[in-house]
Amino acid sequence: MGIRIQHVSKHFGRFAALDDVNLDVHQGELLALLGPSGSGKTTLLRVIAGLEHADAGALWLGSEDASTLSVQARRVGFVFQHYALFRHLTVADNIAFGQRVRPRRERWPEPRIQARVRELLSLVQLEGLEKRYPAQLSGGQRQRVALARALAIEPRVLLLDEPFGALDAQVRRDLRRWLRELHDRTGLTTVFVTHDQEEALELADRVAILNRGRIEQVATPADAYDRPASPFVYSFVGAVNRVPAQARDGQVQAAGLALPAPDGRASGPIELFVRPEDLELAAPSTGWSATVTALQRSGARLRLRARLQGEDSEVEVELPASQADALPEVGRPVWLHPRRYGVFPVAQWPGGGT
Ligand code: ADP
Ligand code: MG
Repeated sequence: MGIRIQHVSKHFGRFAALDDVNLDVHQGELLALLGPSGSGKTTLLRVIAGLEHADAGALWLGSEDASTLSVQARRVGFVFQHYALFRHLTVADNIAFGQRVRPRRERWPEPRIQARVRELLSLVQLEGLEKRYPAQLSGGQRQRVALARALAIEPRVLLLDEPFGALDAQVRRDLRRWLRELHDRTGLTTVFVTHDQEEALELADRVAILNRGRIEQVATPADAYDRPASPFVYSFVGAVNRVPAQARDGQVQAAGLALPAPDGRASGPIELFVRPEDLELAAPSTGWSATVTALQRSGARLRLRARLQGEDSEVEVELPASQADALPEVGRPVWLHPRRYGVFPVAQWPGGGT
């Protein structure tokens, strides 16, 4: 079942935690909701789940207007960052909980509940651990129990709020892959909240990028990275250099180099955004003239810092280590060509500018 969010706003006092949010989550897709801490991710999930009421806007679950449905009637599975397992219940009883608290006429008979628990234990690969208590499990295992518990009610959609946020890096990566496989098997419409751009780009079919209660872009991971729709997305999804520039007549003048404007409409003072790996070494006069200020090898990558001629700021360049021989030393001139870049008006970047 798909989720449709239309013009949803939510204020806490005078503060807008969600500001006119529009989002379609397609049936069966895994969508990552990505944004910095405080951007409204949890609030949006809570609105979908019915744990929070929006001040304005509409919410649809499939073809049903969900705004007026109770939390239970929405049949939404929810997993929180901090394992909200019941400490005094075994793994099996934790998983069965959502079924057992249903009103009697909706509740499944006990043998069916137990069969469902066994099925879910197998799905989350925790067979044999059903009699354990949460304290006897690792963090990763607890989150898999939380997921099984969310699935026990046969939810129509699954909402995951930074479910791996408290786990260490390796466990996180394993669980990420595991969750993707699980999603591909169940096909359940899923919204996965994270502030970790790598996690979002690796896991999701599409990413929605949230900033200060507003959605800045909804795109495939590749498009969010290659074609950021705003200065914020450029900086939040990956690393970026910003170079002051002027646009006129379909051309961009940046640090003494004329480049075609990616957006023909731009004019006046702008900023050119270019990722470190989109700067390449060029022949003299075909790129920015610059001076190398630092050079560092990091595994398979070379990181270079360079000061553009006539500019105060430095740019970062990332090159494959195989180009080490072509690199000048610190203090020597280098020419850098931006093979891919975006431009935005200076005023569009709150608190930024040149
Ligand atoms: P995120 O999950 O992206 O970190 P949240 O949705 O939790 O962000 O919060 C968004 C903003 O709304 C934050 O500034 C937070 O302080 C504020 N906020 C969230 N819940 C409440 C609440 N119950 N009362 C007041 N402010 C809240
Ligand atoms: Mg949150």
